[in-house]
Amino acid sequence: MADTARIEQFRKMAEADPENELGHFSLGKAYLDTGQSSLAIPCFGRVIELNANIAKVYQLLAAALLKENRRPEAIAQLCRGVEVAAAHGDLAPKNEMIRMLKELGAPVPESAAAPPQPVGQGQVLCSRCGRVGPQLPSPPFSKDLGREIHEKICADCWRAWIAMGTKVINELRLPLSDPQAQKIFDQHMREFLNL
Ligand SMILES: [Zn+2]
Repeated sequence: MADTARIEQFRKMAEADPENELGHFSLGKAYLDTGQSSLAIPCFGRVIELNANIAKVYQLLAAALLKENRRPEAIAQLCRGVEVAAAHGDLAPKNEMIRMLKELGAPVPESAAAPPQPVGQGQVLCSRCGRVGPQLPSPPFSKDLGREIHEKICADCWRAWIAMGTKVINELRLPLSDPQAQKIFDQHMREFLNL
């Protein structure tokens, strides 16, 4: 899909459902990927307003701010992001944001070394909401992604995705019999669930 068509699609999605963090996230990422970092910044800001627990968003927001030479703001977002990532056990974005902070010569927050919360029987440390919550009784479907969801996503967030997934199919008019559309749908699911 051409960049402009992709951006247009995500822009419509963000406008049609402004409380949907996924639309703003996808739009921000599309702007960032196409070098339009000044347009990406408010999109990522809106995602954080809607859901402050997605560590990856702070990383992308900081990257966009750096492209606009807004260094102090980028450092502030990286520090917040490292804390969010540390609380959720989100290793990949945490390490990347620590690397960015070091590269900028900025101090790394001490909470980066904090241990994750304890998780009890039948519970899961949810990678989307960042809380320890009820686990799904079984994987929601049989692919590897189903198992990953069972291990990393709480039942509440899974229900939120089911509602959102319907909107994604409608907004993007995805024919799920088409393997390419299924791939796009899975990608949206991963982004929404912060996997
Ligand atoms: Zn959750």
